[in-house]
Amino acid sequence: MSKFKVFITRPIPQEIVAQMEAECEIDMWHTSAILPPIAEKIAPLDGLMTYGHEPVSAEMIATAPNLKAVSVVGVGYDHVDEDACRERGIALGHTPGVLSDTTADMTMALLLSAARNIVSAHQHVQVAREWTYYDPNILWGTDVHHTTLGIVGMGRIGYAVARRALGFDMRVLYHKRNRRHDWEEELGIEYAELEYLLQASDFVTLHVPLSEETTHLIGEAELALMKPTAILVNIARGPVVDHGALYEALTSGQIAGAALDVTEPEPINTTHPLLGLENVLIAPHLGSATVQTRTKMATMAMENLLAGLRGEQLPYAVLQPAW
Ligand code: NAP
Repeated sequence: MSKFKVFITRPIPQEIVAQMEAECEIDMWHTSAILPPIAEKIAPLDGLMTYGHEPVSAEMIATAPNLKAVSVVGVGYDHVDEDACRERGIALGHTPGVLSDTTADMTMALLLSAARNIVSAHQHVQVAREWTYYDPNILWGTDVHHTTLGIVGMGRIGYAVARRALGFDMRVLYHKRNRRHDWEEELGIEYAELEYLLQASDFVTLHVPLSEETTHLIGEAELALMKPTAILVNIARGPVVDHGALYEALTSGQIAGAALDVTEPEPINTTHPLLGLENVLIAPHLGSATVQTRTKMATMAMENLLAGLRGEQLPYAVLQPAW
């Protein structure tokens, strides 16, 4: 039997590739090389594993008559045309849950770094080498403990962030479309409409999936509701925040700061005005980037891809065709 033709857009651990090779002929792109457009690769494929949020459009899918499975190494699959997969009966898999704690840790890391000037401190001491005497009046931050956190998009990751915030004695407000009375009871957190959450929170963290509804969910009007002392953390997807409005809010003092793990586009243009602001901290999409979690994610993505190629039930399915 001939092997399934598979393209993997970014390197995954070699031992996972080796497990797939019994059934798959694998073309895996390399970090050092610029990724070719998926459109150039997709036509002969049976399976595609996307690891860098590369867009997979309906037009691309239409050029691949044998495509049976698309496996996303990640939980968010907004870059793949879900409707096109559904129409063609293509299996679509992702890696939910396994990255929630790791992404929640990164959320707290960004929040704490922004609140306590960690990056500016590093810049001062190690990059500029300006710590020549002890000055008790520099780099004052703002307290995190006993403040209010607003979680927008309270699902798997939002829940993990809430648990961490409670460890800092924070009051936790959350917003989602479907209220979770069980979580309110379990954690002692409060449901809030978005407007109230933005008005009442000292820190706002974003965890919604990217959709038409959540594109620019945080724009000029929403930023105007926030406290001038508030810090916004976006670890969801870049387009959830209107970057033009964010720039205005940060330069006019409408809000105090922002920490972004995601931007629009990615990578953000190196001349983007947000990069020049001292009250912005930007990480290159590191939410799930730990050795342990990325390895588990790649393993789950492999299991999804192999199941889809074999015509079996995907263990972590977004779309499961009726084979
Ligand atoms: P999840 O469990 O599906 O949680 C998302 C939550 O958002 C759901 O509970 C949903 O609740 C809520 N939601 C959806 N649309 C909404 C809207 N219009 N308004 C308000 N709430 C809305 O997903 P997750 O595993 O926590 O992941 C969330 C997202 O984080 C992913 O989709 C991905 O884009 C992003 N992410 C980023 C990184 C990173 O590295 N930066 C890592 C992992 C994930 P309702 O349906 O009740 O509204």
